Amino acid sequence: MIIKEFCMYCGACAGVCPVDAIEVEELKIVIDEEKCTKCGLCVKTCPIEALELQ
Ligand code: SF4
Ligand code: SF4
Repeated sequence: MIIKEFCMYCGACAGVCPVDAIEVEELKIVIDEEKCTKCGLCVKTCPIEALELQ
């Protein structure tokens, strides 16, 4: 997963992840690539297109 610099840490992506692979911390988000199934839900949910599946 690519996280773009303009991510505003709103947490919307973490809220929809079915496997809890995204954690939003202070000024960063962390994606557990081992948990991620690449379903793309977080990418579709992000309001500013800050995520990109690799
Ligand atoms: S939904 Fe988008 S802007 Fe919000 S924390 Fe996730 S990647 Fe960042
Ligand atoms: S692609 Fe799916 S499984 Fe991976 S972090 Fe996003 S919502 Fe979670």
